[in-house]
Amino acid sequence: MEGQLAPIFDQVLRRNPGEAEFHQAVREVFESLAPVLTKNPEYADAAILERICEPERQIILRVPWVDDQGHVQINRGFRVEFNSALGPFKGGLRFHPSVYLGIVKFLGFEQIFKNSLTGMPIGGGKGGSDFDPRGKSDAEVMRFCQSFMTELYRHIGEYTDVPAGDIGVGGREIGYLFGQYKRITNRYESGVLTGKGLSWGGSLVRTEATGYGTVFFANEMLGTKNDTLEGKRVVISGSGNVAIYAAQKAQQLGANVVALSDSSGYVLDEKGIDIETIRQVKEIERGRVSDYAERRGAQFVAKGNIWELQADIALPCATQNELDLDSAKLLIAGGVKVVAEGANMPTTPDALAAFQDAGVLFAPGKAANAGGVATSALEMQQNASRDAWTFDYTEQRLQSIMKNIHKNCATTAEKYGQPGNYVAGANIAGFTKVADAMIAQGVI
Ligand code: GLU
Repeated sequence: MEGQLAPIFDQVLRRNPGEAEFHQAVREVFESLAPVLTKNPEYADAAILERICEPERQIILRVPWVDDQGHVQINRGFRVEFNSALGPFKGGLRFHPSVYLGIVKFLGFEQIFKNSLTGMPIGGGKGGSDFDPRGKSDAEVMRFCQSFMTELYRHIGEYTDVPAGDIGVGGREIGYLFGQYKRITNRYESGVLTGKGLSWGGSLVRTEATGYGTVFFANEMLGTKNDTLEGKRVVISGSGNVAIYAAQKAQQLGANVVALSDSSGYVLDEKGIDIETIRQVKEIERGRVSDYAERRGAQFVAKGNIWELQADIALPCATQNELDLDSAKLLIAGGVKVVAEGANMPTTPDALAAFQDAGVLFAPGKAANAGGVATSALEMQQNASRDAWTFDYTEQRLQSIMKNIHKNCATTAEKYGQPGNYVAGANIAGFTKVADAMIAQGVI
């Protein structure tokens, strides 16, 4: 790492021991910033980098609950309120056994720059728990959510911090969390959470937004080469909310989506993934991609690496560090043209470098998956005006936000002498907006 960045990064390592994902996320941003610091010495004078790496507030909670057998269970809950220069802290909650402080901090740090890129007035934060919703009854999930909110409620609010979903947190969990917040505070404060149900303050398109946005972004990248999604073979990892709606939008734009995955393996459906079937399996039955394969008579490859499949376009939409160097080499050998991250940091740093060296168009998650949180901001806007927009209007807003993010990343990369480098463009554009606001607001 260059010059003045190195000692600041060392300090981050020292202050946050054992948080590998957080270190990785900081390093990826820092690696883009040397030319920014040269151009803007005021950032160093105001210690912007030192401040931006230190969350404004970090909350760790004990979350006790009683399971269906009557046993007391304990989980750990987190909320990291990272940066509020641009608006209230905003970012999802992740419920997954892998969650610890380092994961929440990596996600919160990414969220600062992602949210900045959306152009909406939202700061960055993230939270979650090592609670595993898989295999739990609805009643257990409800009791867990109620216990979590019984502690969390005092830290959040429509002007303070606005959580939403992430892995393991969808409409069901947001419902239980909102109900408990309303009960404790005696306020129908719609803007305190996003991803709500449509009849109680939710926004149309929020469910689809992350996946749709990722495909809109990929489409914009192809547009710079006078190309489109029409007839492209697309491989998408994951089979959650992001993956399913990325598949749907890619198909609407004329692509053939042939594969999805989960932690047990991948499904290859050469006829094209059937959206209604995968939605039924995942959203209604809470099943696995192997159930989808069985129902469709498609091939299920247990424990298979989805990136061994040939693809024109690869959309990693599962989880962090799921696409490593070996997988990148397979995709490059297969002639991949575009990689756009629907998940947060799914590509390892060496895989990312391999894509860039091979001239593959690569979009980092903080740009390509920003459609989810951007539509959360649209949900907040509807809540504030007690209004509800149509699907078409909301989708148009999402599409124009993704176009703007693409343009901002592309022009920023060009301005800093790295045309086509969306990683540099996203990091620099996301960072400078936050840095300028922090300078204006003084040393806080
Ligand atoms: N968890 C999503 C993300 O990674 C959405 C956050 C939100 O809507 O606040 O951006």
